[in-house]
Amino acid sequence: MLFVVSAPSGSGKTTIVNEILKNNEDIIFSVSAATRKIRSGEIHGKDYFFMTVGEFKKKIENNEFIEYEKIFDGNYYGTLKKFVDDCVNQGKDVLLDLDVLGALSVKKYYGNQAVLIFIKPPARDVVKQRLLKRKTESPEQIEKRLSRFDIEMAKIKEFNYIILNDNLQDAIDELQKIINKYKNKN
Ligand code: ADP
Ligand code: 5GP
Repeated sequence: MLFVVSAPSGSGKTTIVNEILKNNEDIIFSVSAATRKIRSGEIHGKDYFFMTVGEFKKKIENNEFIEYEKIFDGNYYGTLKKFVDDCVNQGKDVLLDLDVLGALSVKKYYGNQAVLIFIKPPARDVVKQRLLKRKTESPEQIEKRLSRFDIEMAKIKEFNYIILNDNLQDAIDELQKIINKYKNKN
């Protein structure tokens, strides 16, 4: 299965995904390619394959992505076909952390093998507060991220599951329950 987790930036998706990965050693995180700057604490090859725009564009030309998007400050993010297909061919479950449009593209590509999960924040203002608290972007960059909020929330109906991330532990438990439901089927 492919568990695709999406949400407007700042909703808490990465926090929830990391907690799930800690508790599910059999699930592989799909490491995307990205052109944004590496944040402190991030590891190349674990969080993203960080690369230049030139390197990314070469991969587009070589048709190496299942999907890619240019988001926020003109940074590119893309799901690597080989990475995901290798996991799927080995029978492994994969967790993907993608923007909303990327999630819908993966669903088109993999069909029912992909389960789309939307992490819903309590409100736009809460997202802003969380991004300010995270301190990884400037106020201008935060505004750019927030400007996508309405577009992303508008796609919520196309997702298989919606998890409200108000209380963090409740949201983690809910995602774990969804994963367990699919695992128990096999
Ligand atoms: P995303 O990956 O969706 O952009 P993050 O996981 O980086 O979001 O979370 C954004 C910030 O909000 C982080 O500082 C994180 O610690 C915090 N956060 C996440 N979930 C909650 C929650 N339920 N309550 C309060 N703060 C949260
Ligand atoms: P961040 O810069 O905060 O790590 O991620 C920004 C956004 O890009 C998040 O919504 C994240 O889910 C999304 N993202 C990460 N990797 C990919 C990818 O490969 N494809 C797409 N479409 N979005 C991605």
